[in-house]
Amino acid sequence: MLDTRPLLLNTDFPPLTRAALQTLQVNLGYLCNLSCTHCHVNAGPKRRELMDRDVADLALEFIHRKNIRILDLTGGAPEMNPHFRYLVTQARAMDVEVIDRCNLLILLEPGYEGLAAFLAEQGVTITASLPCYLEENVEKQRGKGIYDGSITALNKLNALGYGRRDDLQLNLVYNPVDLNLPPAQSGLEADYKRILAEKFGIVFNQLFTITNMPISRFGGMLLAKGLYNKYMDILKDNYAEANLATVMCRTLLSVDYQGYVYDCDFNQMLKLPLIATNRPKLHLKDLLDENLEGRGIAVGEHCYGCTAGQGSSCGGALDG
Ligand code: SF4
Ligand code: SF4
Repeated sequence: MLDTRPLLLNTDFPPLTRAALQTLQVNLGYLCNLSCTHCHVNAGPKRRELMDRDVADLALEFIHRKNIRILDLTGGAPEMNPHFRYLVTQARAMDVEVIDRCNLLILLEPGYEGLAAFLAEQGVTITASLPCYLEENVEKQRGKGIYDGSITALNKLNALGYGRRDDLQLNLVYNPVDLNLPPAQSGLEADYKRILAEKFGIVFNQLFTITNMPISRFGGMLLAKGLYNKYMDILKDNYAEANLATVMCRTLLSVDYQGYVYDCDFNQMLKLPLIATNRPKLHLKDLLDENLEGRGIAVGEHCYGCTAGQGSSCGGALDG
């Protein structure tokens, strides 16, 4: 696969500094039941990298010491990590909000039949990818049969109270299929809500629109098709300075499956280390006694993906 990394490091993107830490985003490994074309971690069923119990315990200690309020679990399919349930129950026992970035289909896989009920019992917030409300677009991006499976899983979550009860938040994620920036989040959310309710009786809380980043699998596709410069021009032409104040790296720390830390999930994939401490490759255990507030963030050309248009983060548009 072609790699955009060398093209991203020289940048005129403005400097960013960290605010108070609120969220620990933990990547539990690259194993996934799916292999989506837009996947920025190149996850799939053949990947074997998984966070072990020692690193999971370190993440819990970090959360406790730093009084972090949100644990955001990503992958791969984070639920496929054998320590997933342990991490969730321990974090919930500390009254930390836990977000599970769920691909929905995992809820239907053999061996995972009790997963949805476990998530509901623990009051885990589910943020689930459904890249479009149209079957054709979902299958183009994620593969055949994904749309029907996603609908079945959403029905299952609704039946458990997700999207209906205040304590069971169900949010959906939209990624554009092509080179376009996402449309206005609020208008698209209204369309999703209307169509999913009319066709399937599905309800959910919020829609998060997320811009495709010019890295990993999507970046490789841009290079292979000669579209990299065109896509970067779109991101830069739509640069919105106001989004600098709320880009997610200001309040989030990203941890890989081995416990190494980065300013965000995208920097993790690009192996761009934290610049906050001027040390080369930092581990979570090196930061137990560090305060990162006010320190710098490692930026690159890909950061224009976070600031274009209405802005983009793991929690959707930044101007919403
Ligand atoms: S479900 Fe998510 S982690 Fe898995 S391949 Fe698709 S985008 Fe990647
Ligand atoms: S890619 Fe986005 S979240 Fe990551 S460092 Fe750049 S601006 Fe921050």
